[in-house]
This record gives sequence, C-alpha cells and structure tokens, in this order.
Amino acid sequence: MKRPRVRDDLALHPGYHSPQVEVDVRLNTNEAPEPPPEGFREALAAELAGVEWHRYPDRAATELREAIAAHHGVQASQVFVANGSNEVLQTLCLTYGGPGRSVATFEPTYALHSHIPKITNTAVVSGERTEDFALDMDEVRRVLTEHDPTITFLCSPNNPTGMVETEETVRAVADLAPGLVVVDEAYGQFAPWSALELVDETSPIVVTRTYSKTWSMAAARLGYLIGPTWLVEELSEVVLPYHLDAVKQIAGRVALDFEPQMRRRVSDLVEERGRVTAALSQLPVTVWPSGANFILFRPDAVDGDTVWQRLVERSVLVRNCASWPRLDGCLRITLGTPGEDDRFLDALTDILETS
Ligand code: PMP
Repeated sequence: MKRPRVRDDLALHPGYHSPQVEVDVRLNTNEAPEPPPEGFREALAAELAGVEWHRYPDRAATELREAIAAHHGVQASQVFVANGSNEVLQTLCLTYGGPGRSVATFEPTYALHSHIPKITNTAVVSGERTEDFALDMDEVRRVLTEHDPTITFLCSPNNPTGMVETEETVRAVADLAPGLVVVDEAYGQFAPWSALELVDETSPIVVTRTYSKTWSMAAARLGYLIGPTWLVEELSEVVLPYHLDAVKQIAGRVALDFEPQMRRRVSDLVEERGRVTAALSQLPVTVWPSGANFILFRPDAVDGDTVWQRLVERSVLVRNCASWPRLDGCLRITLGTPGEDDRFLDALTDILETS
C-alpha cells in the first residue's frame, strides 16, 4: 500500500492530549461538576422532535446566533458559532493566519493557542510572562513590533494560571497590536469583568466563549465569538458549509433559557473557589489567585509528579502541569462539587503530611 507521509511541518509536532485515568474524582479538564439544570433535557427533547432530519441545518445558525446576541446585548451579525471554541480559534487561524503570517502568544498559556496555529501552517511567536505569570508590556511591545503578528492571543482568565487580565492591559495590548487581539474567555463568567464590553465595529478586539464550562455542555462541542460584523462575515466564508448541526443549534439556544440557574452555579463555584483557595493556603503549597473554575498550585517540598501520582492512587485526578515549560512542579485542580473538592483536599493533606 502506498501510504502518504504526514505533512512535513506537522510531523514535527506532538498532538494535544489530556490523559484520562479511571478514578472516582475527576478534576482535570475544567468541566462543570454537574450536568445541565433540571428541565434542560426535557426542553431539548421536545424541540428535537421537530428536527427535519432529511434537510441540511440552517447554515447561518440564525436562531442560535440571535439568542446568543440577545444574551450578550449585541447584534446577531457580531456572533460567529462553531464546534467548540477550539474550532472558533482554528477558523480565525485559517482566515487570518497561514504561510508567511504569525500568531503571538504569551507563555505560559492555553496550549492550543500555539497548537492550532501550527496545524494551520501559521508561525507562532511566543513572548514570556513575568515570574508571577503577569503580562510584561515591554515584552508584549517587543514581540508585536518584531514579528508583526496578524493575531495576538490573550486568555482571560488565563489557562492554566487562572490570572485575569485587567481592562487596562487588554486596551494597552490592543493599542500595540498590528492585527486582531483575540481574548479567549472560555472561563469569562467566573471573572470580575469581561472584554466583551470592548468589542465594537472599529476595535481589533474579539472575544471567544464556550458552552463547555459554565453551561455544562462539554459533550455538545459548541463555542462562539463576538466581534465586528466584517470579521464574522469573513470567518463564515472560510468555515465549512453547514458546519454546525441542527441538534447543536437547538441545544445552544435552549441552554440560554436556563440563564438564572447558570448564574447561580457560577456564583456557587466562585464561592467554592474561595473555600478551596483558603484551604490550599493552609498547606505547604504555593497557590495562585484564580478568576476561573480551576486553581494552579505547586507543592513546596514534594515534587509535582509524585503528588499527582499519589492523588491518582487515592482516586483523585488533577491536571499534571509539572513538566510543562515554565510550570515546573505545578498541578491544576478544576473545582468540583464540595464533596469532590473535600476528597481532593483530604488526599492532598494526607500526601503532604506523609511524604
Ligand atoms: N480556551 C481555553 C482557554 C480552554 O481552556 C479551553 C478548554 N480547555 C478551550 C478554549 C476550548 O473549549 P471548547 O471546549 O469550547 O473547544
């Protein structure tokens, strides 16, 4: 059999994986701890009865985009929807990246912000954050002036550090950026402010959001972007025709009817974040303040890999960032239910006391 070789530029890159292990307490992928609210399944099932299965879905996803627009107080023409915010990021790179162009990231940040450009044959130029993971404006200026990227990725709250960028910082980056500034707000609802208020027809700022976290819908693969109308039109020309299936379009719209429940869950998780942060602060670990539904920490005296392994032995799975560049020894815990978080805190306390 004549087997084609993978594209040369791709063959050099490892894929992106989050190892799944069979455990009781799964706190490693920043999902919501609970399924969608009571009534969601029934409401969705009732609407699905009307799907015309032999027809292609609405290519423009009109009703879903109108519902998202109403939710955020913007126009439907400013909303682009896709299969997860990862596909939104990929469509941005396909549209504005490509050979001879570059994307800027400031590390450490979400791994897909450099992985997606690479698979779309876009160069990645990476700047460094300060020791405490903040953006360093001199470094931002250097990277943007030296490399002239068509897209600059920010992530607020930043994954995996949890740090929220201030409005002043986002505005300053937008002033310096030669192209788009994409603010990835996958965890935006957990933060005290949103860059959504900076989006308008003349600004280079676009904001991406997801249904995977707050809306308890990681299984559906649905994300979106709010940006200027011209950009939404350009992205729509690039994404595959009928990329968003009818079921997903309905699910995303129905979910928004449960906004009050979603808001209550977000405020419960924010309270839980305070409780878990306070508990971690009592242990021999360094904890970074988080504006998201996860917390980054580093055990002071035991190495991160060992702690991760011992947590798994106690049936608790967290994200092991210990060997990631710039995150030496760090682990990231997604907030779960109070019971799950207690299982984690008890296991961690036990490990640190006995190591
Ligand atoms: N952005 C960030 C910062 C994330 O952490 C994630 C999920 N891990 C995503 C985007 C991707 O989300 P989605 O499930 O919508 O593709």
